[in-house]
Amino acid sequence: MPDLSDADATPSAQPVRGLQRSEAQARADLLVVDSYDVTLDLASSEETFGSVTRIALTSHGGSTFLDLKPASVRSITLDGRAVDVDLLRDGRVPLTLDAGRHELVVDAVMRFRNDGEGLHRSVDPADGRHYVYGMSFMDAAPSIFACFDQPDLKAPYTFHVRAPRDWVVIGNAPATNPEPGVWELEQTQPLSTYFVTLVAGPYHLVRDEHDGIPLGLSARQSIAADLDRDADELLTMTKQCFDEFHRLFDIRYPFGDYHQAFVPEFNAGAMENPGCITFRDPLVFTSKVTRGVRIQRATTVAHEMAHQWFGNITTPRWWDDLWLNESFAEYMGVRVTAAVTEYDDAWVQNSFARRQWGLVADQRPSTHSVAGNGEEDALAALQNFDGISYAKGSSILKQLAARLGDEVFLEGVRDHLTRHRFGNATMHDLFDSWTRAGAGGFDAFSREWLVTAGPDRLQLDRSAGELVRTPPADHPADRSHSLRLATAPAGGAWTGTDVEVTGERTPVEVPEGHAVLVDPWEDTWAACLVDGPTLDLLPGLVTRTEDPMMRAGIWNSVRSGFHHAEVDPDAVVDLAEAWLPVESQDAGLTYTTPWLLRSAVPLSSDPATAASRLHAAALRAAHAHEPGSTLQLGSLQTAVATASDEQLLRGWLAGRDLPPGLEVDLELRWRMWVRLAVLGATDRAELDAALEAEPTAVSRVEHTRAVVSMPTAEAKEFAFERFTGAVAVPNYELRAAGQGMWREAQAELLTPYVARYADQLPTAARAHSGWVQADVAEDFFPACMAGDEAMALLAPLRTSDDLPAPVRRRVTDAVDELERRRAVIARFRRG
Ligand SMILES: [Zn+2]
Repeated sequence: MPDLSDADATPSAQPVRGLQRSEAQARADLLVVDSYDVTLDLASSEETFGSVTRIALTSHGGSTFLDLKPASVRSITLDGRAVDVDLLRDGRVPLTLDAGRHELVVDAVMRFRNDGEGLHRSVDPADGRHYVYGMSFMDAAPSIFACFDQPDLKAPYTFHVRAPRDWVVIGNAPATNPEPGVWELEQTQPLSTYFVTLVAGPYHLVRDEHDGIPLGLSARQSIAADLDRDADELLTMTKQCFDEFHRLFDIRYPFGDYHQAFVPEFNAGAMENPGCITFRDPLVFTSKVTRGVRIQRATTVAHEMAHQWFGNITTPRWWDDLWLNESFAEYMGVRVTAAVTEYDDAWVQNSFARRQWGLVADQRPSTHSVAGNGEEDALAALQNFDGISYAKGSSILKQLAARLGDEVFLEGVRDHLTRHRFGNATMHDLFDSWTRAGAGGFDAFSREWLVTAGPDRLQLDRSAGELVRTPPADHPADRSHSLRLATAPAGGAWTGTDVEVTGERTPVEVPEGHAVLVDPWEDTWAACLVDGPTLDLLPGLVTRTEDPMMRAGIWNSVRSGFHHAEVDPDAVVDLAEAWLPVESQDAGLTYTTPWLLRSAVPLSSDPATAASRLHAAALRAAHAHEPGSTLQLGSLQTAVATASDEQLLRGWLAGRDLPPGLEVDLELRWRMWVRLAVLGATDRAELDAALEAEPTAVSRVEHTRAVVSMPTAEAKEFAFERFTGAVAVPNYELRAAGQGMWREAQAELLTPYVARYADQLPTAARAHSGWVQADVAEDFFPACMAGDEAMALLAPLRTSDDLPAPVRRRVTDAVDELERRRAVIARFRRG
């Protein structure tokens, strides 16, 4: 029974390389996994758990390996004969299998993890209760149970769990609880390893049923009342979406119960584990949120439901086709939310919240194609869960559905899901299904939109009367676009015109002196840059623009123009000031304000004045909107983020001088503390007292954000200790430390930390692993330090051999953003 030393067995210490595609192919050729039977003992220790896995498999005969990342191994047997456990190296046990059926039994001790992967165990700061959940995605399953960890070796699972007696246990299949502390789960449908989960702890449960499907919700006890308050909204939309997905796909949901678990310290938004979806639990709202944030949650719920078909019934064979999961789920999630739930404006929210995420990602050095991204390494593929695989992919599928017609689009999907039920498939399988359904011409479509990276740039050449299409220099393409152009006279109304772009220059009719927006309704995928004359007219037009999609289109054009240093930050501030009081979609405020404050305001000719103009506009809006409305809330959030008056903020904290109908709850209170911290108008003792007064999970994260925001060396040290891993904290606190520490107005204090970031990034990369490793590199990146000296320190990180590839990739994109800031400064702020 070797007890592996910490150095090489810490479950979070990743092997240098992930599973390679060639290895996965060879293993899939060699064996079929018939079933897994897993017994976990969660009751014997708070640090480790027992994990006994029985794997029934059939081999064609040959050598391969088993994946296993344990704390220690008690025994491994193959067909009853002992396998030398010392053969375990870098998470792999080599095996030689004769042709025929085998039984492999692995008895191991695993570590609970605290990085949101594997079997994550955490303590709720509000009440000291312990909670556990499993996150097998994307290579963490072997730190829960021994397995052949790749998406195309599917098998049914049977779990047996021993847990503390006051816990509930929920998994991928319905569970019974024959005696206190003992849980037996039914056998699942065939699942990929990365779908296997277990949610265990003293969770608060809500149960319901719809159309024969048992439904459940769960969350920590300390936020039980908050879950109960929103349970009706969540369950109602879950039922509406089930009906719509059944109608669209004509295939019954096949995974038994549908449980939605809100779990602590979860890295992603959610994970689509069949039958037991896990969501980050800030999605259980403990404070009032804007409607935009509610829509984001709703589309996430629908996205995970869409995955039950796309991804879970039929799973991509390898990670290069993850768009078959994410792009479909993203598209169907928004589509179904808009079609059947109370959030019929989900596409507007999507436009404000997601469009730029996709477009910017698609213009970064790290851009990649939507499909067939060529990823050979499973771990590296994690970085492709980005704006391209989600937002761009969704947009491309929306275009495809429009082009094929909904009937053909859906018939192809049904054919695909039926042919590959509980199996795996590739992009070409899906194309074959669409072709059978009556579609044609996939080669051209795929070439133009799916396998070529980068967006075209579309820009009006006013003097020539032409729309100019510029393909990305590094990714040549000859794409056609069907889109609408919107034009408006000064202070007038917008008119839409259809345009077919088939070449480099397309003649368009634009009346003299009219504003022009290219593709505001998002008919195509392109970076559409606003031109100068339009920009001048927008503040006068935006106040009369009633179509919310058009207002979102205005912002997307302006942001695309800014990205290419074609828009003066001062013009952005003018537009924002006019727009803030008239925006009727709070999603506009929720998703545009952070960009304004990060990008345009700091680069304007007078940042302090710009911030105070936006503050005044937001405050006017907060007083003008209906008392208690989410628009009022969104406006006040903007007013808080732009406030410079300590007494005003302190008055609000004490409940004084607030717009009528507004209540200061936990989240708003922390926004105010963070702002006071940025201004240097509070201290550590006061922030600690605020945490102690309400010691919830949300408070802990926001307390960190506030502490590191203060303009003191101690505050920045506090952040850096977390960056380098000298102080270990849960991921949300770690990320808040990075996101809060760099503040434009504190540039002088922060200057020495640029060099420290550059020096210590390799240390930080070693200290953090898995999901959060690249996030840390980005969160702590000195994104507001665009001077020559900072650039000289940061740019070389792009090619540093000391950094893992995912970190290099993230830093390369961050440096690209810095270069774009420098381009704006060079064009508009110097001379
Ligand atoms: Zn997804």
